[in-house]
Amino acid sequence: MRNVLILGGTTEARVLAAQLAQRLDLAVTLSLAGRTSAPRPQEVTTRQGGFGGVEGLSEYLRVARIDLLIDATHPYAAKISGNAKRAALSTGVPLLAICRPPWDAVPGDRWIEVDDAAEGVEKLGSTPRRVFVALGRRDLQFLVRAPQHCYLIRSVDPVDPRLAVPDARYILARGPFYEEADRELLRSERIDVVIAKNSGGAATYSKIAAARALGIQVVLIRRPAACAGVATVDEAMQWIEHHWGLDRGV
Ligand code: NAP
Repeated sequence: MRNVLILGGTTEARVLAAQLAQRLDLAVTLSLAGRTSAPRPQEVTTRQGGFGGVEGLSEYLRVARIDLLIDATHPYAAKISGNAKRAALSTGVPLLAICRPPWDAVPGDRWIEVDDAAEGVEKLGSTPRRVFVALGRRDLQFLVRAPQHCYLIRSVDPVDPRLAVPDARYILARGPFYEEADRELLRSERIDVVIAKNSGGAATYSKIAAARALGIQVVLIRRPAACAGVATVDEAMQWIEHHWGLDRGV
């Protein structure tokens, strides 16, 4: 039996875990940061919460006798990815990263690319605007620096406490989202600008496509760090099969 630890929190991690779980020769554990209060049900053993930095993760890899570490975390979860690299190096456990490609601008996109949420909020400008916000909980705090805007904030979990800005409304929703619905939302809410991360993938691209269709500006936060690895779950499966010389579907 080989032990696999998947660092997750993404669709790729969930799908890969489910595919690997079909194999009788692998024991798969999926690790979640615990960022959402009700994560989707998973098909494998799941653990939640931080390991305690590089040391804690290294210790976990040793104690659980992990044979392969897979970093399938969100492209903006740079800390855990850095920890995974260092823990893999110090323990000698092989590491495979799934690096979801970012979205590329296409004709019609009106993107302003920025390095982080703080810069993104600055770029919204001083004139009050109607802003559609698709950011993680930690990034939302920067909105209070620009209280002149009217914010429509979409998140998986409730934003609690509410932001200390005079005009903010909240939509609770979990992707995948669809272009037609997002176009209607941006249009009916008279949104002037979208602020979001360049998450890549299909599940949350709808707001980008909808903004393009409506000629709306998008303030897009660049990826925090370069990622080296495979791009998709299929490629990850091929890498694993090749790495261990496995037959498909054992
Ligand atoms: P992070 O800054 O890379 O990680 C912070 C700490 O959380 C890590 O040092 C680790 O704690 C713990 N952690 C993160 N992922 C973990 C996992 N899969 N299993 C166990 N522990 C984990 O990541 P973040 O704070 O979660 O998020 C950073 C950005 O990514 C945000 O913009 C967020 O919106 C976005 N994002 C994250 C997730 C997610 O599932 N994490 C999902 C969607 C979007 P220890 O050092 O104690 O091990």
